[in-house]
Amino acid sequence: MTYTLTVGVLGTGIMGAAMARNLLRSGHTVRVWNRSTDKAAPLAADGAEVAANPAEAVRHADVVLTMLYDGDAVREVMREAFPAVQQDALWVQSTTVSLDDVDSLGAEAAEHGLVYYDAPVLGTRQPAEAGQLTVLVAGPRARRGELTPIFDAVGARTVWLDNPGDATRLKLVANSWVLALTHAGAETLSLAEALGVDPDKFFELIAGGPLDNGYLRAKTGLVRDDKLSPASFAVATAEKDARLIAEAGRRHGVRLDLAEAGAERFRRAVEQGHGDKDMAATYYASFDN
Ligand code: NAP
Repeated sequence: MTYTLTVGVLGTGIMGAAMARNLLRSGHTVRVWNRSTDKAAPLAADGAEVAANPAEAVRHADVVLTMLYDGDAVREVMREAFPAVQQDALWVQSTTVSLDDVDSLGAEAAEHGLVYYDAPVLGTRQPAEAGQLTVLVAGPRARRGELTPIFDAVGARTVWLDNPGDATRLKLVANSWVLALTHAGAETLSLAEALGVDPDKFFELIAGGPLDNGYLRAKTGLVRDDKLSPASFAVATAEKDARLIAEAGRRHGVRLDLAEAGAERFRRAVEQGHGDKDMAATYYASFDN
């Protein structure tokens, strides 16, 4: 790396904490803030400065990184941060938000003198911890080079797109596939069990052929091995993403029956008390309790 930056990280949940740790490992100065302080405090041991509020985290920051739950959370937190941001600082918005939120957050960034990058990520807890995410990023060309050290620290691959919104569009398309696979695996497993079919027989049947799939095996494995906690991607967050996908489809004139039904499965799993578990717990939505 050629130079180090000061980064204010807002949101240190599953993804934000891992990204902050990798920024620290790469030598950047990192100030972290999280609504629940218990998730930010452990980062002090990694060298982060733990801020008392969003404004403190972003003061003097060259780069502001938001990794919060959804667009409303980003808006709420950034309104506290805006008065303290440096003019012309770069804002890397990595929370998965709606396309409308990409636009409205971009407008607020411009009002407050921030240079805004729509930068959702692909990859979950383990790739985030390993600094192996794929960052999809769209924003002004002139300042892109300054962000290279940031994306190199958190990711294995950076995919540059043209305009804010382009990165989130690609992210929603990718998540549509991820969520559909997760539900398909969960339903296949629950059907096998209901019909008295040994799931291993199914996996032997597809082994090595075009129907086989590493993600299917990984997600159904979490259910079969009872390893749904801690989550890599929580059911409640997956429900939020399923609704963003369904809404984007409706707005653009395509019917996404699987996304709608998938959101409903996640909602049921949350209602059953599985909201904090890995999204593979959509499996439980196949049963009454
Ligand atoms: P997470 O562990 O649940 O973290 C969410 C963060 O948002 C927490 O820090 C939480 O604070 C904060 N938050 C929620 N509502 C808030 C509010 N109203 N005000 C302030 N802070 C608020 O989720 P995650 O898995 O890291 O996901 C973060 C984002 O990345 C989401 O948009 C998700 O869709 C996206 N994403 C996740 C994955 C994945 O595999 N996990 C992969 C790619 C993208 P508290 O700690 O106080 O609750």
